[in-house]
Amino acid sequence: MNRFDTDLIIAGGGLAGATLALALARVVPSLRVTVVETFPLSADALPEHYQPSYDARSTALAWGSRLIFEELGLWPRLSEHATPIRQIHVSDRGHFGATRLNAGDHGQEALGYVADNRWMGLCLMRELLETGVQWQAPAEVVDMTPETEGVRVALKRGTETWSLSAQCLVVADGGRSGLREALGFQTRNHSYGQNALIANVSTGESHRFTAFERFTDAGPMALLPHGTTTRAGHQSALVWTLTDEALDEVLALSDPQKCQRLQERFGWRLGRFTRIGECSHYPLKLTTVDEAVRPGVALVGNAAHALHPVAGQGFNLALRGLMTLVEQLRQAVEQGQSLGDLQVLGRYQRLHRQDWQQTVQFSDSLIRIFGDAPAPVAAARDAGLVGLDLLPGAKRWFARKAMGLGGRRAVISKPGVARREPAGHE
Ligand SMILES: Cc1cc2nc3c(=O)[nH]c(=O)nc-3n(C[C@H](O)[C@H](O)[C@H](O)COP(=O)(O)OP(=O)(O)OC[C@H]3O[C@@H](n4cnc5c(N)ncnc54)[C@H](O)[C@@H]3O)c2cc1C
Repeated sequence: MNRFDTDLIIAGGGLAGATLALALARVVPSLRVTVVETFPLSADALPEHYQPSYDARSTALAWGSRLIFEELGLWPRLSEHATPIRQIHVSDRGHFGATRLNAGDHGQEALGYVADNRWMGLCLMRELLETGVQWQAPAEVVDMTPETEGVRVALKRGTETWSLSAQCLVVADGGRSGLREALGFQTRNHSYGQNALIANVSTGESHRFTAFERFTDAGPMALLPHGTTTRAGHQSALVWTLTDEALDEVLALSDPQKCQRLQERFGWRLGRFTRIGECSHYPLKLTTVDEAVRPGVALVGNAAHALHPVAGQGFNLALRGLMTLVEQLRQAVEQGQSLGDLQVLGRYQRLHRQDWQQTVQFSDSLIRIFGDAPAPVAAARDAGLVGLDLLPGAKRWFARKAMGLGGRRAVISKPGVARREPAGHE
């Protein structure tokens, strides 16, 4: 008889929590996994057909993330609405520096893909419905207390409260619910004093499957190819970094005025901006933790590290961390160790830490170098961008970072078994 109500509880069924649940169902199908999610979920709510929405938020998935989704068996479905990124164009507004990365130079069909978050969520839910993963939704995790070789997790729905015991709790609540702090994890926060304005835009010229990363004195902006998978279309997903003041100003503009402002900041590489969809915005800050594990508890996804979206690294980094955790949990099951054993979770932290620190440093230094820098720094960064073009080794390093191939990750070789891929040479 099982001592615990379930083996592992995941607090949060967002992109990170749902992907972890699917990976565990694939790699260690014997585990009993329960996902607790604040939002209501039901199979009936899953639409039969999916139409990419003009207003959906999207994520740039690195090539390395495609490989992970392939291993999880999710890619055939996900790729139906994932727009390939065949080139990345990086430029500096008002300066001469620019560089271009091409998938063909790396022998690949794409450097990465752009997928709507809603579509990724839908694909994950459809796959999860066919697994033994249990859901408690709507419900929230409000507390956790250690027990012998396990944890007791307090749940709440409206005024109703109850608890479940498990070997381990994985916190995937995105970091905004306060659960991480309630459990005693210390965070380091750095506010960039900026916001990301998100919208889908239409342009006079086709995107030619190019992602544009443009650094301006007011902050970076990205335009990601969006909407069609086989024929280059005229729709791109915009991520526009703005100070609080500039954000208020842009939000107060009419749509044609917003397009005009965007044109001034971005230029004409995509022709005229003809339409802008509904705008949403997020304050930007860097949040990291020194320790992502405690006996019986592990943090994953944004709960462990939330980054500036400038280089589209956040979810890609989270995915690599999830696969590292899954590999450690698989080994624990094989060796008869408790899932919440600090040795098991400590190995996850140790193996993931280098990747997370490097990725945080990579995206954070892009902001600092390309921020409102004095002239000598601006000259140096332009020389850097040109240098990337001239030095194949440097360009290859940059491309591997963009493709999410820099870190370590576990690779599933066949159902129930995972092996470790060596760290990439950088
Ligand atoms: C503007 C912007 C653009 C981005 N673009 C990219 C990109 O192009 N590429 C990329 O790789 N990354 C990108 N990211 C980062 C990416 O969106 C995040 O890394 C990712 O969404 C994190 O997912 P998560 O599951 O950790 O957190 P979340 O998506 O926040 O999910 C947390 C979930 O937990 C639930 N929850 C919260 N509290 C509780 C509780 N107490 N109990 C139970 N459930 C709870 C919530 O309802 C939610 O469903 C971007 C981020 C932003 C802000």
